[in-house]
Amino acid sequence: MDDVDLNKNRLELALEAAGLDLWENDLVTGAVTLKASKTFAELGFDEHEIAADVQGIFGLVHPDDRAKVQQAIDDHLSGRTPQYRCEFRLRSKGGAWVWYANYGRIMDGQSSTPGRRLIGVTFNIDDRKRKEDEIEQINRQLTEQNILLQQLNATLALLAANDSLTGLSNRRTLMELGVNECRRAQRFGHPLSVLVVDIDLFKAVNDAWGHLAGDRVICAVAQACLVRTRNGVDTVARYGGEEFVLVLPETDSPDALRLAESLRHAVAALQVAVNDEGARASVTVSIGVATLHPGDDFSFEDLVNRADKALYQAKETGRNNVQSCVPH
Ligand code: GH3
Ligand code: MG
Ligand code: MG
Repeated sequence: MDDVDLNKNRLELALEAAGLDLWENDLVTGAVTLKASKTFAELGFDEHEIAADVQGIFGLVHPDDRAKVQQAIDDHLSGRTPQYRCEFRLRSKGGAWVWYANYGRIMDGQSSTPGRRLIGVTFNIDDRKRKEDEIEQINRQLTEQNILLQQLNATLALLAANDSLTGLSNRRTLMELGVNECRRAQRFGHPLSVLVVDIDLFKAVNDAWGHLAGDRVICAVAQACLVRTRNGVDTVARYGGEEFVLVLPETDSPDALRLAESLRHAVAALQVAVNDEGARASVTVSIGVATLHPGDDFSFEDLVNRADKALYQAKETGRNNVQSCVPH
């Protein structure tokens, strides 16, 4: 065995061990001068079925991959890339698509015309590609699940913070926001007012029209509170069954009383549709008002309790009226 044969044998052994399949094309004639027989055997083709020219082999490349294979060859031939590298699918004899990678380079032996021979190796990357696809699919599913979880969290946060009937802040949210507003008012020396609004003789509405009708009245009063307050500044909360608390930052007693009066009138003018037959109900509210003035040193809970006491007085005074807690 001479040196050339020995080197050839060594190369074949190394290629086989690495799972690589050697090919060589004549770029001028388009002839396939060395066939990647192992690859084509893998794809189910007999030796005599392998195309003898580059175009014939190109016909086995997946239509979606042809442009990128051509681009990779052009990039190398024009000197833009030091090697030709590409990944693509080949059609097996049975019609299945199998992923392969090509790695090649123009090699000009002394005897051949410069730029004539493109030599390279092909190797099967189907397993890797399928795993990549699986990972991509898993990642996509994880992203979708994350989006769903975020939406769920946002919904849960909304449910935890709001009353389900009226959509207003619930008692817990009110206490958190109120404590913060109270601290802010004391720190900056601003007044802070609280209104406690309670529907008068509400039990009679439920008794006369039913619980669902009562719910509609509660929603109508909630809406009346909302439209008279500053969006993003004031807080309107459902404090209990038919009781609401309004927190009005930077609002002194005269302004709070004016708002309470306007709300009382607005509610008295409501004609709430209580059933689908067109029946309408009217209600009135009693309102207690308390204000934290600059320099006052009591808690938000105290402020609500004071407004609640004023509400009690309003009820005692005959309902449908506003009372304020006298500062002491
Ligand atoms: P007052 O003028 O003294 O406030 O009389 P009232 O009838 O409004 O007061 P009371 O506390 O006796 O009754 C409140 C009623 O509100 C009792 C309860 O059944 C009803 N209620 C509480 N929560 C809801 C609710 O979510 N929906 C409905 N429809 N009724 C409710
Ligand atoms: Mg009531
Ligand atoms: Mg009540």
